[in-house]
Amino acid sequence: MTDTPFEVKPHPEMWAGLGMDVPRFDKARQMLGEVYDKMYISQANRPTAMQYFDDMVSEIFGGRIKEMLAVKEKGKPVVGTFCVYIPEEVVVAAGGVCVGLCGGSQGSVPDAEKILPRNICPMVKSAYGFKAGRICPYFQVVDFVYGETTCDAKKKTWELLDRLVPTHVMEIPQMKNKRDKTLWLEEVHEFKNKVEEVCGTTISADDLAGAIKVINNKRKALQRLTRLRANSPVPISGKDALLIEQIAFYDEPVRFAGKVNGLCDELEERVKKGTGFCGGDTPRIMVSGTPMALPNWKVHNLVETAGAVVVNEESCIGTRYFKDLIDEGGSTIDEQLDVLTDRYMQIDCSCFTPNDERIDQILREYKKSNAQGILHYSLQFCHTYNIEEIKVREACEKEGIPYLSIESDYSPEDVGQLQTRIEAFLEQIRG
Ligand code: SF4
Ligand code: SF4
Repeated sequence: MTDTPFEVKPHPEMWAGLGMDVPRFDKARQMLGEVYDKMYISQANRPTAMQYFDDMVSEIFGGRIKEMLAVKEKGKPVVGTFCVYIPEEVVVAAGGVCVGLCGGSQGSVPDAEKILPRNICPMVKSAYGFKAGRICPYFQVVDFVYGETTCDAKKKTWELLDRLVPTHVMEIPQMKNKRDKTLWLEEVHEFKNKVEEVCGTTISADDLAGAIKVINNKRKALQRLTRLRANSPVPISGKDALLIEQIAFYDEPVRFAGKVNGLCDELEERVKKGTGFCGGDTPRIMVSGTPMALPNWKVHNLVETAGAVVVNEESCIGTRYFKDLIDEGGSTIDEQLDVLTDRYMQIDCSCFTPNDERIDQILREYKKSNAQGILHYSLQFCHTYNIEEIKVREACEKEGIPYLSIESDYSPEDVGQLQTRIEAFLEQIRG
């Protein structure tokens, strides 16, 4: 910790060049720096390798944007996505950049509510609001975005988003039968064709093999970090681990994997020495449910401020993103897209029915992470996760797992009430 307050660095000239609402965005930048200083920099016992990820946040609206602009100058695309079903390997194979645009901030929600209904998921509103208000440099930098048909709020919003930025939509099946895989494989081929068309390039089997390896390595690094969190005392805070999982969606993948592995080396040393982020008797919580897009740190902050630690995220910004790898053995494009599709079909999002494999996965991760309770987190108005929560609760009751379910949005209004419920939950775990 230093006495200099943390700052998210300003880049007003570049933002103006991107057509952003600079005065308004600059206020958001300052606020993000203040929140990060309070929630992150103030933590005790942080691994020194977190410096890289702090720097990534400091340059979140500058350094990484410049790298993306450099990629565009070479005639390669920057593609925005909102879901872990979009195969980023294909974009990387074309020499492009894939960036997650899910919104995790209350700041852009009012922009969205000028046009979208209020009673839809805050993640969709936040993302749409970022573009409508011109207050996200990533949205300004992308050549096009690729949405999907996972939920109703998203699929109807794409029609409106298309008025602001070229928006393509990939159809995601709702079931996992043979015919669904056929449909999904066709969609993956179409996605590849679209990326090739925009780049004016043809993706070779070698290009795709290289990209599959790159993204597999990124996922493997995140798996390693997850395994290390199973130790007691846990060597890293849940907030820091969540931040890394969020940065995975916008950082350069080779560099990112190297930095995560570097951090894991340090965490291994900590484990050997018995050095933890907190004491070994700290209650260990696993969070399961909807994604927590940057800068949504609400639940982790509440749990860790209340004296517990988050040891796992069963979420798309979490293990659902990196638990499965692609078989690297495919030698032709058709074979590679086939095994790629197999891997993506294993994602257990609640938009599928039935989706009992997710319940099994939650129980597996609970055991592997040595957690002592599950906190199910659902974004407000996310019908599929909210309804699937019933099965998660039943499974936890059956297994005797301490369980708390919360539904929340990005506003600070429910913080007091959530704090009370989380504290009572931790008391139950402490016995
Ligand atoms: S929760 Fe479902 S819809 Fe949302 S990012 Fe994950 S897979 Fe996509
Ligand atoms: S959290 Fe639920 S409602 Fe929100 S975008 Fe994801 S699937 Fe849709």
